[in-house]
Amino acid sequence: MTAILISEVGPRDGLQNIATVMPLAAKKAWIAAEAAAGVREIEVGSFVPAKLLPQLADTAEVVAFAKTIPGLIVAVLVPNARGAAAAIAAGVDKLTLPLSVSETHSLANLRKTHAQVLDEARAIAALIAALPVARRPHFEGSLSTVFGCTLEGAIADAQVARLADDLMQAGCDEVGLADTTGYADPAAVRRMIALVRRVVGDGALTGIHLHNTRGLGLANALAALDAGLTTLDSSLGGLGGCPFAPGASGNIVTEDLAFMLAAMGYQTGIDLEKLIAVRTILSDALAGEPLYGFLPDAGLPLGFAY
Ligand code: ZN
Repeated sequence: MTAILISEVGPRDGLQNIATVMPLAAKKAWIAAEAAAGVREIEVGSFVPAKLLPQLADTAEVVAFAKTIPGLIVAVLVPNARGAAAAIAAGVDKLTLPLSVSETHSLANLRKTHAQVLDEARAIAALIAALPVARRPHFEGSLSTVFGCTLEGAIADAQVARLADDLMQAGCDEVGLADTTGYADPAAVRRMIALVRRVVGDGALTGIHLHNTRGLGLANALAALDAGLTTLDSSLGGLGGCPFAPGASGNIVTEDLAFMLAAMGYQTGIDLEKLIAVRTILSDALAGEPLYGFLPDAGLPLGFAY
């Protein structure tokens, strides 16, 4: 059956939203253990100034370590071309530039207007184009707050469509959808995928980043699967959220997502028992930090085969 790529974002989205700074050794252990459990893509950090996010200050070292793991796609978030240059120097396989479709959120989050973010996108595309083909990372422009913004509410379809097109024209390889605020519902997911695909084509929208803020995370993931998306972001233990979206906490839980996909017959390459065991690295390194998920507590159903 269809292969689905689970992209683990906990080391970036999860860690940036908790106060505790995870030691580098624990990050390495986490990434190595999740890769050993079969996770094939991990967003390991973000190239932002250390004074803004001390939790991610060691991203270059984390990338260097992650790149030693055979077959692992090493992804990072970058806020601008300066961050992209650092990411490229570190040797990442994939970089994601967020473009908040709400300009108010963009100003709060990146302190940039849409035009300024698109300038950064063009500069990043130029950096990538200057590399030998074999060394070019995959470049995704992520349409964040695409299901609604805590500051502006709903964003007009025409604005979303225009920004998706702008990102592709700026040189992105693809666009992604990000429910930064946890406002999505399954019908909205279906509608937004159709809307953006009409602009960029099916091949240039394959992934979605979901939060479980209002309990609809897995329902939204199912809607995205049914619409043909093949990459789903999630976070081990549901760590994560958005500091600029009050109330938004927790990506969808990698363990529960991997279980749902396995139960439905999708191939993820993930060993569920090994994946659950990785949680002890988080609970040891992040004492007192809540971890979420149903599968880890309930265990696999009797005779579960996948
Ligand atoms: Zn997020």
